[in-house]
Amino acid sequence: MGHIYGLNAQQQKFADKAASIAKKVLAKHAADVDANSRYPKESIDALSAAGLMGLCVPAEFGGAAQPPRTFAAVVEELAQECASTAMIYVMHVTAAQQIAAGNPADKAAILKDAATGKHITTLAFSEKGSRSNFWAPSSSLVANGDGFKTDATKSWVTTAHHAASYVSSARMPGAESPLASTLYLVRNKAAGVSIQGDFKGVGLRGNDSSPVELKGYQIPKGDVITEQGKGADGMLQVVLPWFVVGTSAMSHGLCLKAIAATSGHLQAAGIDFTSQKLRDLPNLRARLADMAVATDRSRALLGYTVGEMEAPNEMTPLRVLQSRRCAIDTAINVTDLAMKACGGAAFSKHLPVERLFRDARAGWVMAPTVDHLDDFMGKALTGLPLF
Ligand SMILES: Cc1cc2nc3c(=O)[nH]c(=O)nc-3n(C[C@H](O)[C@H](O)[C@H](O)COP(=O)(O)OP(=O)(O)OC[C@H]3O[C@@H](n4cnc5c(N)ncnc54)[C@H](O)[C@@H]3O)c2cc1C
Repeated sequence: MGHIYGLNAQQQKFADKAASIAKKVLAKHAADVDANSRYPKESIDALSAAGLMGLCVPAEFGGAAQPPRTFAAVVEELAQECASTAMIYVMHVTAAQQIAAGNPADKAAILKDAATGKHITTLAFSEKGSRSNFWAPSSSLVANGDGFKTDATKSWVTTAHHAASYVSSARMPGAESPLASTLYLVRNKAAGVSIQGDFKGVGLRGNDSSPVELKGYQIPKGDVITEQGKGADGMLQVVLPWFVVGTSAMSHGLCLKAIAATSGHLQAAGIDFTSQKLRDLPNLRARLADMAVATDRSRALLGYTVGEMEAPNEMTPLRVLQSRRCAIDTAINVTDLAMKACGGAAFSKHLPVERLFRDARAGWVMAPTVDHLDDFMGKALTGLPLF
């Protein structure tokens, strides 16, 4: 039977490998990672050892050069067992794509290490002043000797403590508009970088997402990733599509796990006085059916979109936005239905359903948020410029 994301035999092997690690390693630690808001080190180490951190890194740098459809299938497997791990993975793969598309001096060395998991990378776009409007940074680069200097309050950086680099954004020197931005690398351990505390969120509690303060941070010329003023192109043409594929697939993984957990519970639990299992109640079966239809509808849209991304046309950017919008909505609705179908067993944490419910909500507040997606899609459909 074919995979809904249209994988060939070689691509399916990557998904199978991810599924095996997810079941053997991620599943073992996920509850503890969530309960203690801790970094899923065992899981990231296992993905590194299996070569999956280099899944989409170009072959010339030692990666497997896999397209978005394989990425989606792998993330979906990871998210079924530990969405925090999946989130860290999505940020790493996405940031590595931007490094590969740009021209930092250490590009080859970084990508070779990114492919093995020795160098974990991530994104640092959101700022206190720009909030979720990631395409319009408040911070600026100032020319300084042979390089640049910046001050910035980055409000969320996934993998903040554990990533070696952050792909970061700022206005170019002398920018007349916040859209005239530049992407550059922040080296985590360098002077001027300070991580502000630990993450204690509602969901994705192991994703190590902390605010990061840059004070008088010196950027060598070689750590500039894009041409000056071309940062928004990188954010919208490289980062956004990969981030959308990854986060949509993460949403789908949460849905698939919610369906499996609900189905298992409806088959296992029963009511003595009627000698019925919960699955004998038509209202609960209907909820499960709704969950399954909604999930495969959203997965099918993503499967279509990743196909278009390999041969893009003028509709592809719209499909990318639609895919994320659909996946976020679907994950929130499906995990909510799972909470209702499983009742107190879900509410009391006897099932993993409430963790899925909390993890699914992160998609809504992550930029581009549902509000941004709707606005972008409405503009595209009425012939207005995005900004
Ligand atoms: C688990 C997690 C991990 C994250 N990791 C990263 C990361 O690694 N790197 C990174 O850069 N960011 C990251 N983020 C940050 C994320 O992308 C958003 O920037 C952040 O969640 C926004 O929070 P805020 O309070 O600033 O929201 P706000 O921007 O203040 O939004 C509040 C509300 O206003 C709406 N809104 C905001 N702007 C507009 C607008 N222009 N039009 C209409 N409505 C609008 C929003 O949709 C939302 O409903 C992460 C977020 C989460 C939850």
